[in-house]
Amino acid sequence: MGDCLKGKSEVKKGDAKFECRKCGARTADKGHVCKPEKVKKKKKK
Ligand SMILES: [Zn+2]
Repeated sequence: MGDCLKGKSEVKKGDAKFECRKCGARTADKGHVCKPEKVKKKKKK
């Protein structure tokens, strides 16, 4: 736990593994946001 991106996503939408429930920032590392929530992958092509 620790810092949060505070709404600033550090990865592209498709690369995000976690999304902050509080501020909505997307990251690949759950340690980078305050309330990490797993992102469901939507890849149907
Ligand atoms: Zn946050």
